[in-house]
Amino acid sequence: MAGNHTAKADRLHTLLEAFSAQLPDRLAGIRRIWKEVQERPEDELQCKEFYHQVHNLAGSAGTFGYHQIGLCARRLEQFLLQQNEAAYCDAGNSETIDSALTQLEMLAIKGADKAREEMPATDVQRAHDRPLVYVLEDDLLLAQEIARQMEHFGYEAAAWPTAEEIIRAQERRPADVFILDIDLTEGPLEGPRIAPQLQALGKQNVPLIFISVRDDWEARLATIQAGGCAYFSKPLDFTSLIERLDQQVGRKKSEPYRVMIVDDSVLLASYYGSVLQNAGMSVDIVNDPSRLLDTMADFSPDIVIMDLHMPQCSGIEAAQVIRQHPAYQSLPIVYFSTESALEKQLNALRVCGDDFLQKPISDAHLVAAISFRAKRFRDLNTLMTSDSLTGLLNHISLKLALERELALTQRRGGSLTFAMLDIDYFKSVNDHHGHPVGDRVIKSLARLLTQRLRKSDIAGRYGGEEFAVIFPDTGLKAAYDLLDDLREIFSEITYTHQAGEFSVSFSAGITSAPPYLDMDSVIRSADNALYEAKRGGRNRVVLSNISAAAVNDGVKRFPGTSKSD
Ligand code: GH3
Ligand code: MG
Ligand code: MG
Repeated sequence: MAGNHTAKADRLHTLLEAFSAQLPDRLAGIRRIWKEVQERPEDELQCKEFYHQVHNLAGSAGTFGYHQIGLCARRLEQFLLQQNEAAYCDAGNSETIDSALTQLEMLAIKGADKAREEMPATDVQRAHDRPLVYVLEDDLLLAQEIARQMEHFGYEAAAWPTAEEIIRAQERRPADVFILDIDLTEGPLEGPRIAPQLQALGKQNVPLIFISVRDDWEARLATIQAGGCAYFSKPLDFTSLIERLDQQVGRKKSEPYRVMIVDDSVLLASYYGSVLQNAGMSVDIVNDPSRLLDTMADFSPDIVIMDLHMPQCSGIEAAQVIRQHPAYQSLPIVYFSTESALEKQLNALRVCGDDFLQKPISDAHLVAAISFRAKRFRDLNTLMTSDSLTGLLNHISLKLALERELALTQRRGGSLTFAMLDIDYFKSVNDHHGHPVGDRVIKSLARLLTQRLRKSDIAGRYGGEEFAVIFPDTGLKAAYDLLDDLREIFSEITYTHQAGEFSVSFSAGITSAPPYLDMDSVIRSADNALYEAKRGGRNRVVLSNISAAAVNDGVKRFPGTSKSD
């Protein structure tokens, strides 16, 4: 982490140095164009180029610590704006411009007037890797079963039957969360009694979850006084326990915000890109707006930062092109420009776009403004695209994602694997244990998918107790292995209910693209394979016939699977 931070700081430093190194040439360039303007005042293009370069300098100098130069260039830019281009060389104007350029050159010799503030690297989006759970439970079999169930859901777990042993383990390697029994062989209420000692030995504010057969006031009060955050009566319902654990350790996968910067200035875009990357965001830069749509399809940004003045087209025009695409209707577009005239800013927003940020801007302000808007977009988008029971993609979004991934696969010439899953005999779960318990089973499969699939895999709830998974850039063999592991893990999860314990399995059908390339055939093929899995006895993963044939001797490499289509 520290090394990473140093590397990022180095990259910023390199950009600052690059700007300083370029500055004399840039000023010389502006001076040269000014001379040409003076020689041919009627050359409109030349005048425009002169203005454009002053404008760019006004935008970038402040960013790289040359605040005086930034102010001076902005004053000159404002002055040029007020003149008719043809009048740049009129007697009085010419003098003003000359003296502004001289002042800029003097300031450049003085150097940067203040180093930029350093952005601290934020930990906000650091991923939690397998959190460590310690279980204290004197019934050793139960202790081991709890640990095993935790492992299914991506936790690292260890269990001990005595207080002495768990304390020793905590001294060696501190846990991220504790599950403690209340009465132990050492005596009643021993769990709550040793809790403060355990906590004092390790990380701060580690969540404590208590479990017990007791359900009396004395026991419950003891857990509260010991700082417990949850209480579960035995027999334990593992899915609720894990749900609580997930909440406590905040394990929702949070992907870095994806920010696209559209700016013709390579240096400035790299600089702001690095600032945002330092704050944990993922950044893609487009210097030529004609590449914009292709890059967006690959990168799928949460927000676009758009320069207003670019030689190829204006930012407002580029924003309008983006908005022509239905998929980008609600994508936030923020203009980022030296333009300070409120009327012009409002005008840009009237046509298209969501907000205006003025260059130069402090790093902290930029990070706050962008992450706030990206978060809002993510939240709203999640609300629209996810299924309310499981949080996975809903039916429509899953299909949109499949369509998008198929198009990408075709364009890149790779391969994609698609699977449909259906819980076995689910109707009887509802019939025997009730609808709410059925819901819990659905949620536990969803959670398993979220935690066990790779980051790039896309899971959705296709309907009722049916799910679908897209494995982009993945061959059949790899997807099959992953899914078959999940099938085995899922079938080992136990659910507890008044009537006792039970477990559930799922069946799955897998297909690939190619050979299938359009969405309907891909879905039909996976569905046929799923039907075969059901017909073959359930609790199994079946490859679609044609996909299996496509991986030359693929079928032989998947023992115990049948074929479909
Ligand atoms: P098979 O092994 O062939 O898939 O049998 P099954 O019983 O799982 O399949 P079937 O399609 O006959 O039954 C699915 C049941 O799932 C019927 C429906 O009431 C139930 N179901 C659908 N959505 C939900 C839900 O959101 N919550 C609960 N609890 N049940 C649901
Ligand atoms: Mg079904
Ligand atoms: Mg079913």
